[in-house]
Amino acid sequence: TVDLLTLGETMAALRGTGPLRLGGDLRLSIAGAESNVAIGLARLGHAARWVGRVGDDELGALVLRTLRAESVDVSAAVVAPGELTGMLLFDRAPGGTPRAHYRRAGCAAARLAPADVSAAVALGARVLHVTGITPALGEDPAAAVRYAVEAGRAAGATVCLDVNHRPKLWPRERASAVLRPLAAGAHLVVASEDELPLVCDGPDEAARARALLDLGVREVVVKRGTRGASAYTGTGRHDEPARAVTVVDTVGAGDAFTAGYLSAFLDGLPVPERLRRGVILGAAAVAAHGDWEGLPTRAELDHIGGSPDATLR
Ligand code: ATP
Repeated sequence: TVDLLTLGETMAALRGTGPLRLGGDLRLSIAGAESNVAIGLARLGHAARWVGRVGDDELGALVLRTLRAESVDVSAAVVAPGELTGMLLFDRAPGGTPRAHYRRAGCAAARLAPADVSAAVALGARVLHVTGITPALGEDPAAAVRYAVEAGRAAGATVCLDVNHRPKLWPRERASAVLRPLAAGAHLVVASEDELPLVCDGPDEAARARALLDLGVREVVVKRGTRGASAYTGTGRHDEPARAVTVVDTVGAGDAFTAGYLSAFLDGLPVPERLRRGVILGAAAVAAHGDWEGLPTRAELDHIGGSPDATLR
């Protein structure tokens, strides 16, 4: 039994400094919301396993090699003969806003099916983490997520769903229809402020969180960017402000936050401490280039987490 099992698409990520149309240098790494969380947990010393599908190409090898180097178990990952690994290009629009350009349609991960994840689920995990990105990739990946959530729950795993709506992959209405039952079957639901209405109804945030708690969700966690994060539980609401940070690259903050939250959950810490570790990891992701490169080890966590008033650089 690992601490965390997660599944999803991890792609090769190319990062440029200006608009892509101007050409220039690109830096090659990997990106995937779920594997970002797995890396965050592995760096903090938890046993993390990622399962997914990559092509039998150089980029698939890069994905697996990088995850392995970060001590994420990829022994259950599928390498699909003759298929391609997806790609993501990041650039900056004039003005500096980060943009993501996907080359993922028809790639190996879009065919992730329940049979690809069943062995990993059977091996057991304390926490099963899924996101709303995977079901947006197609019918098979949606079925794989549903299967993992049901089987993981039945085996006693704590199920965490990060709503993670990707408007480029599907419209709100379709995302909402597919993600609502997944949220209802999760123990922890993580969403940014604007995503919460996708998975539950209510006149305001507190009412929406209450609606999920009434369905059996134990913790509803809301991310608020520079305004920190909150958690709603059966006993009330907890808030944690964001840590001050010199912003380098905001992409990956949400996944880092989730990794911090789940790490403290796995350590048996109470909800306010889970939020606290979440905002520390969120700040660490924002302070560094890349989605996961800036995440701390356990020793570094103690160092950067020490003073809530200090600015991370
Ligand atoms: P993304 O999709 O870009 O990963 P998100 O919308 O899922 O982000 P955010 O709410 O932006 O998630 O970020 C998650 C957490 O990271 C926040 O709750 C906050 O604690 C931290 N964070 C994000 N941006 C900043 C920032 N500029 N300064 C400090 N902390 C930040």
